[in-house]
Amino acid sequence: MKVGRERRRTLVCQELVEVITDYLEGALSPGDRARFETHLAGCELCDRYVEQFRRTILQAGRLRAQDLPDALAAELLDAFRGWRG
Ligand SMILES: [Zn+2]
Repeated sequence: MKVGRERRRTLVCQELVEVITDYLEGALSPGDRARFETHLAGCELCDRYVEQFRRTILQAGRLRAQDLPDALAAELLDAFRGWRG
């Protein structure tokens, strides 16, 4: 099975978006957490995304799934699409 590099990268970014709340709550396993941070170190977009997320949570003073801004995720995925052009 062939998997393109771009495709894999996008998948990893999408995974990151999906587990970001677990990460910030400290709910990830040590292995997943390490993968998450390794990805952050090499992906500026995700790094910025997590930073925005942290700020949003600080402002809200709490973390609830329903408070998460879907617009941020949409923006991020848009940016990924932009890379490929
Ligand atoms: Zn990423």
